Amino acid sequence: MEKLIITVGITGSRITRQQTPYIPILPEEIARSGIEAWRAGASALHIHVRDPETGLGTQNLSIFKEVADRIRDETDAILCLTTSGIPGRNLPVSERLQPLSLQPEMVSFDAGSINMGENVFLNPKEFLDALAKETLARGIKPELEVFEVGMAYTCLKYLERGLLKPPLHFQFVLGTPNGMPATAKSLLHLTEIIPGDSTWSVIGVGQGQFPMAMIAMTMGGHVRVGLEDNIFYSRGVLAKTNAELVERIVRIAREFGREIATPAEARNLLCL
Ligand code: ZN
Repeated sequence: MEKLIITVGITGSRITRQQTPYIPILPEEIARSGIEAWRAGASALHIHVRDPETGLGTQNLSIFKEVADRIRDETDAILCLTTSGIPGRNLPVSERLQPLSLQPEMVSFDAGSINMGENVFLNPKEFLDALAKETLARGIKPELEVFEVGMAYTCLKYLERGLLKPPLHFQFVLGTPNGMPATAKSLLHLTEIIPGDSTWSVIGVGQGQFPMAMIAMTMGGHVRVGLEDNIFYSRGVLAKTNAELVERIVRIAREFGREIATPAEARNLLCL
């Protein structure tokens, strides 16, 4: 099997300090948490930033730059910056695309709209077209986030239209309230319909994180963990850092016989 690429969703845009005191909010906290996760064995860091005043997600370019600069100074991690915007707010396309100007190696591409709690996570055609074109123009690889099976087919349409370049890299997001459940059956179906030369990784949301990581590991896929997707280390026990979630995956992967990809090896596997 290929070496295992561990991606970390460091903070996301939704989790609050009320839910866990350990969620990184300030730019230096987000950067430090990412650097620790890289030291623990993560090769890719999926990054949202927060407004230091409100603690909520923001697409503010200077905050993205501060976090990216701090991480780039200390690590060789692959940076994957989010384009997902702010929950419940329909930001202009240009604002969502701002992080691309920092020339990260990857950006998220949420391949369709979906209900998320009280809000709709809007990813209409106008946004996806603009995002796909901008990634092509800048040579940035989209991380294709797929919450339900229609989004995988949307990616295949963009591939057909020449707006996505093969090989594709999918990040399956399983276990959101209105998306596909975090089950082996979901994952099996998704991996069967994507092009054979694709790479894929899986996010199990909440209690799905650990079991989905185990299934992906045995199927030859890659794994994302992190506080963005799951704030618990075990039942009733909050995870204190992103690094400890990474360390557990590293230990198990080694026992299982899957070596951990360094960032350089991950770049090769992902054809960056
Ligand atoms: Zn994210």
